[in-house]
Amino acid sequence: MSERTRRYARMLMDLAKQEGKEELYRAELEKISELLNRSSELSSYLTSSDNSVSDKKATLQRYFGNKLDKGVLNAVFAIGSLKEKNYNEVMLINDFLAYYYQLQGKHHGIVYSARKLTEKQIGEVEAAVSQRMDQQVKLENHLDESLLGGIKVVVGSNVWDNSYLSRLKGLKDELLYSEDAQEASVREMNEAIRQQILNYEQQGIAVKNDDTTGRITSVADGIVTISGIRKAMSGELLRIGNGSAMAMNLEEDAVGAVLLDESAEIREGMEVTSTGRVVETPVGDMLLGRVVDAIGRPLDGRGSIKAAEYMPIEKPAPGVIDRQSVNEPLQTGIKIIDAMVPIGKGQRELIIGDRQTGKTAIAIDTILNQKGKNVKCIYVAIGQKNSTVAQIVEKLKQNGAMSYTTVVVAGASELAALQYVAPYTGCTIGEYWMNRGEDVLIVYDDLSKHAVAYRTLSLLLRRPPGREAYPGDVFYLHSRLLERSAKLSEKNGGGSLTALPIVETLAGDISAYIPTNVISITDGQIFLQTELFNSGVRPAVDSGLSVSRVGSAAQSKAMKKVASSLKLDLAQYQEVLGFAQFGSDLDQSTRRTINHGQHLTELLKQPQYAPFAQEDQIIVLFANQRGYIDTIPLNLVRDYEASLLMEVHSAHPEMVSELTSGEKMSEQFTEELNRFIADFTTRYKLAVK
Ligand code: ATP
Ligand code: MG
Repeated sequence: MSERTRRYARMLMDLAKQEGKEELYRAELEKISELLNRSSELSSYLTSSDNSVSDKKATLQRYFGNKLDKGVLNAVFAIGSLKEKNYNEVMLINDFLAYYYQLQGKHHGIVYSARKLTEKQIGEVEAAVSQRMDQQVKLENHLDESLLGGIKVVVGSNVWDNSYLSRLKGLKDELLYSEDAQEASVREMNEAIRQQILNYEQQGIAVKNDDTTGRITSVADGIVTISGIRKAMSGELLRIGNGSAMAMNLEEDAVGAVLLDESAEIREGMEVTSTGRVVETPVGDMLLGRVVDAIGRPLDGRGSIKAAEYMPIEKPAPGVIDRQSVNEPLQTGIKIIDAMVPIGKGQRELIIGDRQTGKTAIAIDTILNQKGKNVKCIYVAIGQKNSTVAQIVEKLKQNGAMSYTTVVVAGASELAALQYVAPYTGCTIGEYWMNRGEDVLIVYDDLSKHAVAYRTLSLLLRRPPGREAYPGDVFYLHSRLLERSAKLSEKNGGGSLTALPIVETLAGDISAYIPTNVISITDGQIFLQTELFNSGVRPAVDSGLSVSRVGSAAQSKAMKKVASSLKLDLAQYQEVLGFAQFGSDLDQSTRRTINHGQHLTELLKQPQYAPFAQEDQIIVLFANQRGYIDTIPLNLVRDYEASLLMEVHSAHPEMVSELTSGEKMSEQFTEELNRFIADFTTRYKLAVK
């Protein structure tokens, strides 16, 4: 306090003493001082010479509901109006208070804070202020939430303001009035704000981290470009209004995302928040019997899914150590497949063929055949007509297969992004069960359409196109999906995820880009041929081009025994068929080969939705192996097969149950079965004559 200012303070004090009201003066002026410290508007109003003294008094009174002591107020303004440059009533009030406490032998001040300070903190501030002022200072703590944080110390006319509020005001002024900011383009302005905020962070203030919200700068074709989000992960779920999107392109100053909601109204300028989580799907037994969309939202109108858990749709595949080799068959119930291209639990077997060759039929029959076998199934429909999917769901229901099946649908009319994520969602749903030691079968119908959806997204996201306009990482698209199929080691519970991806070819061209990719990722393929299909050989499995690389490790002993020669027989048949067309004069053995081939082909035909149990397959293949079938007229083969099975089941149920396990057939059993079939065949031939 300077000599001059002390003079005024002393004058006011003299007035107070004359009236014997020092204490009243102090109390009143402290109230006003406190208000002034909080409201800078009021301070500047009082200090401005534009306002008359009576106005100022009236304003102050209004703030205190006319309860201020009039005498005190008059005294302050009387002295304050002894106008001197750079001195005003506000300073006088503070000086008076400081003088008052000085007379009491101490400097008095107030420390304002948003939250109550501890005794220790007050002590620290007192020490710091005392050092600055070179005098002992006593501070009182007053709360003022408008400060937000930090502290403001007022001692007499000295003010140290280190509150967040004042810093934010400074920031505002800087941005509004600094010449740099005014000249800068909007983009630079953004940068300036960011820089300022960073500076504040460096000064030790935690400004709310706003790297997680941004705004849409453009939206078209299901693709949104977002600026302002700085910490997004690839595949992260973003919220836009009541819709959602998935981040895919992470650029320096923008995020490219794909919309996951068609219905949500998305406009330019809308706020986007990142969730810090990648896209997730519900998992668990609640999903059995349900039809869900590409991110696990129900589509069947049967209410929401109260899933116990949510899991990210993209996850790393189990490592080699976590797995064991495939050792158990997954029966499809389709004779030609179980016999010639057996599928093991945890295997990835591709179903490939032109359009309308029965690809979906094989997958659906396989699902039907899992009934009562403790295998959970997932059917992922990608880019198909909704009516087709509805028919499939209906078929599953009719055959009682929905109770252990989940259907994931991203139809042809849906956003490309949904078609893209659907198989990963299905895989996550399956993985959940696999990790609990269960067996799971998943069908991806089909990956050609999946690749096309991904190509669409990539082109819209302006990623560079490569071969056949697919982006360069299209191989990785399917490898990271199919790699997640596994047979887990016993230590990990021994669960399995068997995958049946489907790929559509054009005119049987399996050397096109996507087919070759997927063939190289899978453990074998079932190749379906249009010519066979059209000539009535259904399922139209091409025995030459179809393989299962896991092979006989996935067959039971009994099955292996009766199916061993099939592939060779069919190959020989195909070979001689070629030159048999040229001559009628064929030798005995060629004729036998052709006859056998024809019967075998007939035997392996199978209608849809009629899966064969393993024991039935073994019985008819046994009859084939022993040559009984070749003696039956070709047009009666299927009838013979049906009658034989009926007879075994009714006359010798113990034989059937002996075969259900698939254990090696004992010699004695083989003999009995042979005798029975020989006997039956004779009777059958007599009956049909
Ligand atoms: P798309 O390319 O259209 O998906 P797809 O290859 O999946 O066709 P499916 O839809 O399974 O073929 O079958 C085509 C038609 O053939 C269907 O009408 C189906 O009922 C019939 N079909 C499939 N398998 C058999 C079979 N084993 N016996 C009789 N008909 C069959
Ligand atoms: Mg199909």
